[in-house]
Amino acid sequence: MSSMLSGENITKRYGGLVALDDVSFEVEEGVICGLVGPNGAGKTTLLNILTGREEAKAGRVVFDGEGITGLPPDQICRRGLVKTNQIVRPFGNMTVTENIAVAAVWGDSEISNMAAATEKAEELVDFVGLEEFATAPAGRLTHTPNRRLELARALATNPQMLLLDEAAAGLTSEEIPPFLAIIRSIRDDLGVTLFWIEHVMEAVMDVADQVVVLNFGEIIAKGTPEEVTSDEDVQKAYLGGGVDA
Ligand code: ATP
Repeated sequence: MSSMLSGENITKRYGGLVALDDVSFEVEEGVICGLVGPNGAGKTTLLNILTGREEAKAGRVVFDGEGITGLPPDQICRRGLVKTNQIVRPFGNMTVTENIAVAAVWGDSEISNMAAATEKAEELVDFVGLEEFATAPAGRLTHTPNRRLELARALATNPQMLLLDEAAAGLTSEEIPPFLAIIRSIRDDLGVTLFWIEHVMEAVMDVADQVVVLNFGEIIAKGTPEEVTSDEDVQKAYLGGGVDA
């Protein structure tokens, strides 16, 4: 299997604080990889560096065989490395389908008109299970359908790889299994590689093939969900928070 995304020796400092200390990892094509870690571990910082929102002091990011270090976020997105947002901000006055169609027009180079974009958006509405909200203004969606809309908008840009930023945050325990089914289907049916950054480990552990654990800016474990949850350093890092796998 070839590498889809890798970080090589990434270091980031904020003043005297080392937020990321020589972090290296690799996500293979076609996998679901989780990036987990307690509060302040450096997850958001790493995500921002991978997507061009912040600059690292040192290190390199390689996506699909090409260095993308220092490229601006829109160029990284157009190359197929796309991030979902933790805080979802759709165009409130536009319908759910229109919101997805706009993302398709902007991000999918094969789509050049609104009719094609709308057709793609309608398929994605079905894919993420938002049929009942298809013509509703996106501003009226509650938290859970909003999370699904965010997935659909990201998928509309035709990504090779999705970076999910706390994608399951705020979902109830009943809402998580159907959400995980969509995540699996993104990989299995659409062939998109996934890197899921999450504070709460439980959901990620259910679907991930590989997991990377960050703590105080360092990677303390990598492996299958079973391997990392039985790792002593991981258990210590999560002491108090609990490792639910
Ligand atoms: P959480 O799960 O709480 O979101 P995290 O793993 O995403 O945490 P980061 O937000 O990346 O962690 O923060 C890593 C460290 O860097 C923390 O100590 C944080 O206080 C610090 N930090 C993050 N952003 C900045 C900034 N802009 N300026 C100064 N320090 C920062």
